[in-house]
Amino acid sequence: MSKRDYYEVLEVSKSASAEEIKKAYRKMALKYHPDKNPGDTVAEEKFKEAAEAYEVLSDGNKRARYDQFGHAGMGGNGGFGAGGMNMEDIFAQFGNIFGGHFGGGFGGFGGAQTQQLRGSNLRVRIKLNLEEMVNGTQKTIKVKKLKLAPGTTSRTCSACNGSGVQIKVMNTMFGQMQSQTHCGTCQGIGKVADKIPAGANSQGLIKEDEEVTINIPAGARDGIQLNVRGKGNDAPFGGNPGDLLVVVEEEVDNTIKREGDNLHQELYISFAEAALGTQKEIPTVGGKVKIKVDAGTQSGKILRLSGKGLPSIDSYGKGDMFVHINVWTPLNLSPEQKQFFESQLENGAMVAEPSGKEKTFFDKVRDLFN
Ligand SMILES: [Zn+2]
Repeated sequence: MSKRDYYEVLEVSKSASAEEIKKAYRKMALKYHPDKNPGDTVAEEKFKEAAEAYEVLSDGNKRARYDQFGHAGMGGNGGFGAGGMNMEDIFAQFGNIFGGHFGGGFGGFGGAQTQQLRGSNLRVRIKLNLEEMVNGTQKTIKVKKLKLAPGTTSRTCSACNGSGVQIKVMNTMFGQMQSQTHCGTCQGIGKVADKIPAGANSQGLIKEDEEVTINIPAGARDGIQLNVRGKGNDAPFGGNPGDLLVVVEEEVDNTIKREGDNLHQELYISFAEAALGTQKEIPTVGGKVKIKVDAGTQSGKILRLSGKGLPSIDSYGKGDMFVHINVWTPLNLSPEQKQFFESQLENGAMVAEPSGKEKTFFDKVRDLFN
């Protein structure tokens, strides 16, 4: 999933002036505006891509950083670039660029007279393991959402003529005041029910499971929110559905712990493996790797696998993987094993004989930071 060059996205040269960039963005934004391309997800992606490019190229500092480091300089590892803009962000930030062409604010498309209601947003959490967050993935999840029940019919609310609001004029000590409230007859929807199928609520909606496939870009971090447009609840009596907001949650991994860009894991080896040396396969975010454990390895030894950590957020580098070795003392000895260890004791073998050159815990901590 490679990101396109921002200059290429806006179809301008690298030496374009601020004014040229603004003009180019305006052109793209109008071309791919969701009002002009309803339901067209490709247009929506282009719209977001243009907004992201404009966010960077319209800011002198960000543009300079982008010119020097490319996408890597913008703080994302591929998927998010300028910080995961959703449609709300785009309209809030650059809404004024549309001038009089569109309603401006998100959800305000169409204006009050036509009262195009949007369904409510749904929020779900999705648990991802480290590898999925680093490399990106696709997940299909089941979502319980409100859908329009087939056979539902409605008519325009006569109390408010479909506007959803009632204007009250009050005489107060300060003179006449107008106040606008939600229409009590239709609860602000602008429509009232005609026919509602069995099982549906008063707005013709029924709860149903739906499978949604979500593409998670590489470089996701815990807590980030992805916006899947139009996959939320249906609007009352139909209309534009809301969005599905997917919050990424890092799965608690009992084997791999992260510390900044570095990863740590415990490796348990047996007495025999520690004494004789062994090879072990261990998981990393790039897949399994083989490591060699030397003969005579002591419990508490830390192996450092350079570059096997996470990609760094603010530089090109990668963190390291630290493997903490634990020598496992056997439990529940069989009679033969018990006899073997007893014979070792009687012979005076297998005694602890530190040379004094063993690294202490503090030495190891110091080594890690050197
Ligand atoms: Zn009404």
